[in-house]
Amino acid sequence: MKPNIKDLSFKELAAFLADRKHPSYRARQVWQWLFHKRAASFAEMTNLSRALREELDEKFSISRHRILRRAQSRDGTVKFLFGLADCASVESVLIPEARRLTLCISTQVGCAFGCAFCATALMGFKRNMSASEIVDQILEASRALDADRRITHVVLMGMGEPLANYIETKQALEIITNGDWGIGISPRRVTLSTVGLVPQIQKLVAETAVNLAISLHAPTERLRGELMPVNRKYSLAQLLDCCRALPLPRRKRITFEYVLLSGVNDSEEHARQLMRLLRDIRSKVNVIPFNPHPGSEFLRPADAAVARFQNILHEAGVQVNVRRPRGDDIQAACGQLQGEEIVRTRREIERAAQSV
Ligand code: SAH
Repeated sequence: MKPNIKDLSFKELAAFLADRKHPSYRARQVWQWLFHKRAASFAEMTNLSRALREELDEKFSISRHRILRRAQSRDGTVKFLFGLADCASVESVLIPEARRLTLCISTQVGCAFGCAFCATALMGFKRNMSASEIVDQILEASRALDADRRITHVVLMGMGEPLANYIETKQALEIITNGDWGIGISPRRVTLSTVGLVPQIQKLVAETAVNLAISLHAPTERLRGELMPVNRKYSLAQLLDCCRALPLPRRKRITFEYVLLSGVNDSEEHARQLMRLLRDIRSKVNVIPFNPHPGSEFLRPADAAVARFQNILHEAGVQVNVRRPRGDDIQAACGQLQGEEIVRTRREIERAAQSV
């Protein structure tokens, strides 16, 4: 099996070409073909010499995801199940809105963090995705679009914890955001969501310009610990201290995600506690009414309870949005992605999460 050319870094490709006496601008041309024009073969790269095309074809392959399933929701949301080279599968979700087209992508096959309400947690952790596997979700979803439609926004909110796969995720972000030889989506239109891994959050903010979203989900240590085992490693207090100290550029805010679970974290008191926690952090809150999935006992609160929670924050001056469920009729809503299998029991997940 020939190595996948997209697994090389830009520098490595440049070195490969320099060794063979090709001019240095060739690396940029090859990368543009792969990431900008989504070429699936070297033969398509018509501004390269025939000799170079043949040389590349002899040495490298060009990866593509197989579309194992594609489901379209009543609201226009499209869920892809992509098959990777080793038969693992991951999901991506395309979300059309008035003036944007967002793709939600995965960064790991499965997840090790065991959040109590999340469908991906039920799979357990299988493996990290490589940078090219992360990026190929965007290339393949783009191929499925009509010629006049382009993906405008990318959110790393699919399966897995992006910051637990830091190196590959960062390389993928570079390809996604580079306007010269990459896909060319501005980092302002890319958002990474994390369970709250403190050292990696600091690194990400120092090294990239993408937006940061943090899954908070509870306003007290005890409740967050029950819902998110990661709280044992990085407590709510540590996480919020980290957020206060982040060198955020002006006008940038941290998004805090808060999944509302009926009777668990959705009371007026919870809203008031949350508002006090965020008082001195430049932030906004995304409230996500729980999206039910097979295998979960949690319930979505009634609309009135969601509105009450939102109003308390709003009246306290917190910028707050409620996320409408998208694609829930095809199990594509936030937190419903789970590849093909869910067989684990809650106890197995908790055991796996102990070792995080
Ligand atoms: N690992 C990352 C990104 C993946 S999930 C993280 O945890 O942030 C993206 C968001 O969906 C997270 O805020 C997650 O907690 C939330 N989520 C998970 N399951 C959900 C569900 N069933 N309903 C609503 N939101 C859910």
